Amino acid sequence: MQITIACHQCSQDKRPLTPCPVCQAPPLAELELQAWRFSLHTLHMARIERTPRASEVVPSRRPQMTPLRAVVTVDLEQEPAKQAEVAPIVPMEPAIPADEALSFDWGDEPRKLRGTA
Ligand SMILES: [Zn+2]
Repeated sequence: MQITIACHQCSQDKRPLTPCPVCQAPPLAELELQAWRFSLHTLHMARIERTPRASEVVPSRRPQMTPLRAVVTVDLEQEPAKQAEVAPIVPMEPAIPADEALSFDWGDEPRKLRGTA
C-alpha cells in the first residue's frame, strides 16, 4: 500500500517528496509531508474504527487433530557408551611449598606504603 497525495499544481496523485510524474512540478516538502501524514492518519483511523464484518473473517486453517504414531527402534547390540572420564580434582596443597616459591628481584627501590588506603 502506498499513500499518495494530490499534486499542488495538477491534482494528480503522486508520492510525497518526489516530482510530479504528470506535470513535473517540484515537491513542496513541508506541505507534502503534512498531507501525507493526514492521509495516513485518515486511512488507519478508518480501518481501526470500521465495524468488523463476519464475512471477512477467514476460517482458521487448523490442521485436523489426528493422533500420530511414532515407532522408535533401539539397537541394543551396540556397545554401551563409555562412562565420562573422572575430571581431575585440583589439589588443595600448592605445587611448591610457600617458602620455596621463586621470587623475582626487579631492582625496585622499596617503597613506603601509604598509611591510608
Ligand atoms: Zn502535477
